[in-house]
Amino acid sequence: MFEVNQGIIQVSYIIATILFILALGGLSNQETARRGNWYGIVGMAIALVATLVGDVTQNLELLIVALLIGGSVGIIAARRVQMTQMPELVAILHSLVGLAAVAVGFANFMDPERLSHYVGVELTIHDVETYLGILIGAVTFSGSVIAFGKLSGRMSGNPLLLPARHWLNLLLLLGAIWFGYQFVQQSVAGGGIAPLVIMTIIALLFGIHMVMAIGGADMPVVVSMLNSYSGWAASATGFMLGNDLLIVTGALVGSSGAILSYIMCRAMNRKFLNVIAGGFGTGGGAAAKSGGQEGEVIPIDAQEAAALLGNAKEVMIVPGYGMAVAQAQHVVHEITTVLRDKGVNVRFGIHPVAGRMPGHMNVLLAEAKVPYDIVFEMDEINDDFPDVDVSIIIGANDIVNPSAQEEPDSPIAGMPVLEVWKGKTTIVLKRSMATGYAGVQNPLFFKENTRMLFGDAKDSLDNVFKAL
Ligand code: NDP
Repeated sequence: MFEVNQGIIQVSYIIATILFILALGGLSNQETARRGNWYGIVGMAIALVATLVGDVTQNLELLIVALLIGGSVGIIAARRVQMTQMPELVAILHSLVGLAAVAVGFANFMDPERLSHYVGVELTIHDVETYLGILIGAVTFSGSVIAFGKLSGRMSGNPLLLPARHWLNLLLLLGAIWFGYQFVQQSVAGGGIAPLVIMTIIALLFGIHMVMAIGGADMPVVVSMLNSYSGWAASATGFMLGNDLLIVTGALVGSSGAILSYIMCRAMNRKFLNVIAGGFGTGGGAAAKSGGQEGEVIPIDAQEAAALLGNAKEVMIVPGYGMAVAQAQHVVHEITTVLRDKGVNVRFGIHPVAGRMPGHMNVLLAEAKVPYDIVFEMDEINDDFPDVDVSIIIGANDIVNPSAQEEPDSPIAGMPVLEVWKGKTTIVLKRSMATGYAGVQNPLFFKENTRMLFGDAKDSLDNVFKAL
């Protein structure tokens, strides 16, 4: 294209990097999240323009057409997607990052000028970058496609437990290392495509196997882990292309995804390596098995629920995935306002893995304009339940399941949960006795102080609101 001062490009890259860091900082808090998003958008716009102007020397027209097509697909997808499908969208977007890393890697390898550009150690380093970029990209790609299948219900959420699966993984890893060595050896002489292709197949199989082995309840960690991988894939691509901005941006995504995975594991009391090793949790939404500790449940209607809420002093609202499905957040806000006007102290208790993505409930409550200062994290309010008169559980299940504490054999044993049963009365809103995502029965529903308000959460709450 036309000559642009490289200094200007570099300064633009630095500004974009700073904006990305500010974006991450902003996104860590609900009050600043909107601003954080803007920093990210502006940073990405600057990065795109600077790259287009500075680095693209040929075929700019083609690139602009591709950008327009990609951008349009992105806008349509983002507009159409329901809040409850967000994790699926995120998973499939991660797969695209992986695919891009693989494509760029192969294109880079096939570049006819590669051998004249790099010699000796430089060539080896460049080859290792290419190899790693394709490896991480392929794992991210196939793993994300499987995660998409599981999250969208197109595939079973049950973990696939092949015999000797750890050995299989080890074998795949050793294979990847061996073919890496072969690739570097052969590349100097102008070859290397065979080991590169074989490694790509190995990496694709590894990605599939890794995510297939992880059960439903661990999917939150998988989504953030794949997020992290997609960052590292982008970073490796940055090294391959000698693009500083891509290196830094990829590292930001990679490390923030890794930190998020760690936080999620802690929230679920799971060890990261155990999650990756797989074999935990089952599919969601199955009808509850009868027998065992179950007994009678006590159903109530909306009028009775409204009376309980209206007479309470301390109310705790615990939203879960069902609130997102029912889109009940707006009526939740209206009920909150009515109760607060009556002098009831209303608070929200948010479990770190409530819903289907990190921060899912916070996003919905913010959208409905629930004041931030009455929304609390689990750790902040879990000791307060004995003082709560009425807890209202809106389409949540696993996150309020006492068997996590009481039954060592339970698939969710050890996961910290909101101890709602310690309050005076608990009202559970759901449509049936079906289990939640982890597929385990919930003894909370059978407790003496629990009342079940059956029905779609939005319909039930509309009725409660009218009765109030
Ligand atoms: P759960 O999946 O445990 O339970 C949701 C409950 O909502 C179901 O039991 C369902 O019961 C009910 N429900 C569904 N639709 C409606 C509706 N329209 N009206 C009323 N109720 C409804 O959700 P939780 O939020 O309690 O727990 C989250 C689970 O998801 C955890 O196991 C977590 O590990 C997992 N997960 C979390 C992710 C994250 O990042 N946050 C990502 C992926 C998984 P019924 O069918 O009877 O109505």
